[in-house]
Amino acid sequence: MGKPTGFLEFDRQSEGYEAVETRLKHYREFVPRLGDDQAKVQGARCMDCGIPFCNNGCPVNNNIPDFNDAVYRGDWRAAMDTLHSTNNFPEMTGRVCPAPCESACTLGINADPVGIKSLERAIIDRAGENGWVVPQPPKTRTGKQVAVVGSGPAGLACAQQLARAGHDVMVFEKNDRIGGLLRYGIPDFKLDKRVIDWRLAQMQEEGVIFRTRTLVGGPLPAGVASDAVRTLSADVVLRDFDAVVLAGGAEAPRDLPVPGRELSGVHFALEFLIPQNREVAGGRKNILNVKGKHVVVIGGGDTGSDCVGTSNRHGAASVTQIELMPRAGGRKNILNVKGKHVVVIGGGDTGSDCVGTSNRHGAASVTQIELMPRPPEQEDKPLVWPYWPNKLRTSTSHKEGCTRDWSVATKAFVGENGKLKSLKCVRLDWSGGKMKEIPGSEFEIKADFAFLAMGFTNPVASMLDAFGVAKDARGNAAATTDGEGCYATSVAKVFAAGDMRRGQSLVVWAIREGRQCARAVDEFLMGASTLPR
Ligand SMILES: Cc1cc2nc3c(=O)[nH]c(=O)nc-3n(C[C@H](O)[C@H](O)[C@H](O)COP(=O)(O)OP(=O)(O)OC[C@H]3O[C@@H](n4cnc5c(N)ncnc54)[C@H](O)[C@@H]3O)c2cc1C
Ligand code: SF4
Repeated sequence: MGKPTGFLEFDRQSEGYEAVETRLKHYREFVPRLGDDQAKVQGARCMDCGIPFCNNGCPVNNNIPDFNDAVYRGDWRAAMDTLHSTNNFPEMTGRVCPAPCESACTLGINADPVGIKSLERAIIDRAGENGWVVPQPPKTRTGKQVAVVGSGPAGLACAQQLARAGHDVMVFEKNDRIGGLLRYGIPDFKLDKRVIDWRLAQMQEEGVIFRTRTLVGGPLPAGVASDAVRTLSADVVLRDFDAVVLAGGAEAPRDLPVPGRELSGVHFALEFLIPQNREVAGGRKNILNVKGKHVVVIGGGDTGSDCVGTSNRHGAASVTQIELMPRAGGRKNILNVKGKHVVVIGGGDTGSDCVGTSNRHGAASVTQIELMPRPPEQEDKPLVWPYWPNKLRTSTSHKEGCTRDWSVATKAFVGENGKLKSLKCVRLDWSGGKMKEIPGSEFEIKADFAFLAMGFTNPVASMLDAFGVAKDARGNAAATTDGEGCYATSVAKVFAAGDMRRGQSLVVWAIREGRQCARAVDEFLMGASTLPR
């Protein structure tokens, strides 16, 4: 245990935030990691309460009291090893996890919980800066070939575990860059993409091979992002690999089929966020100075795009990128909402990201509406602890400026000459747990753009159908997570993990499923596995 009386002596330590007016001018992260002294104080607050509810609240079951103690003692390497024993990517969860562990912290019953997420980030960022995170290639190779389809956190965690177990792992991704929603869903101001590239370099050294722009399975429905220039059929993948892991996420967005849905200005949230992330994407290495020079980049892949970004940051006179293959996706966000009125429909993470991005564009107004009632400011602790409480959550994006309204349903999009002008809404009464429209409460909200951020209904069916995988009632790949045959689908040697199996969820759950699925695949291939559960 850290300091026995630490929780009595010290307040919770919080990272500083860059001021709103400064951070709105850029897309970079604006939360610096905790300083070493602050982290030590944070670690000292852990009570080592005997039954670590935080460990149970964390989906990857991080050994939180152990790393709290190690940080308090200044043993940062031990803290890193403890983190890595349960979580492949703490640099990602340390930035974007909603931290259910902190809701379960015993100190949180009558005081501020230990800032576990901030410690997680401090430990791994510090380890990275010190060069302690090194590749862990396997000592022996099994000769077994595994295909992982989808490069989000589930696919990446699974691939890393399987490569460390000695298997030859190839990750297929339809987009031009690896990372799934980490890369092109979550904005850069929440997750710096260099964090992903840093981890990918380690994985490549461990033997993982990445194949981008490669669609596996059948054609995609309109509206699903893809840069694919080649397709691999399910039959070929099944023929060439000893096991296949489907980790394609849940990319079918929930629509709002009300009158006026077809108007120009009404978009799914990812139609706004993905092009924005692409626009922000670019290398940051300073190798040659091309200031004032004319630059031509030959090749349209990751490296080429890095060259473009670097040249522009140097102040090149012009930068032209040429590519042999046909165009597979622009880099400019054509949805610019500068000076426009924006309404975001849906109160979750994706909605919050649309708010933050719209404010960075310089929107005239940003309003976020939500069907459900406004949650209480504070949870009823004795009733809900140690579970994830229903309470009002205000993100850093909300703090940057936005009007929020609850118990509101959208009845229609109203337009002029095919362009969105407003939303017709009605207020809802949720008494008795049932949703009723309040007569006479109709109102309009001015809007040039409406972003539908109401979640995702299920995975895109075409990949699951191409493999003939059975689906559950919600359209996810059917597979259990416990016992014999866990993570296995209805098709021999085909496994599923992450949002593709559990439906739209969180990065930390995707990592857990990827890790556990890797163990199931290893057991299937070798008859036994030493990979952690
Ligand atoms: C805007 C937004 C913000 C979010 N913010 C947060 C947050 O702050 N914190 C948090 O914990 N979670 C957040 N989430 C949720 C989180 O990103 C997901 O739960 C998580 O990424 C799921 O991981 P995954 O690996 O299962 O799938 P994904 O990350 O969706 O990755 C799946 C990948 O598979 C690829 N793919 C799909 N089909 C094929 C195919 N047929 N062939 C080849 N490749 C294919 C896709 O292109 C994609 O890259 C957010 C989600 C969104 C949309
Ligand atoms: S991964 Fe999330 S839940 Fe687990 S310790 Fe980190 S912040 Fe907490």
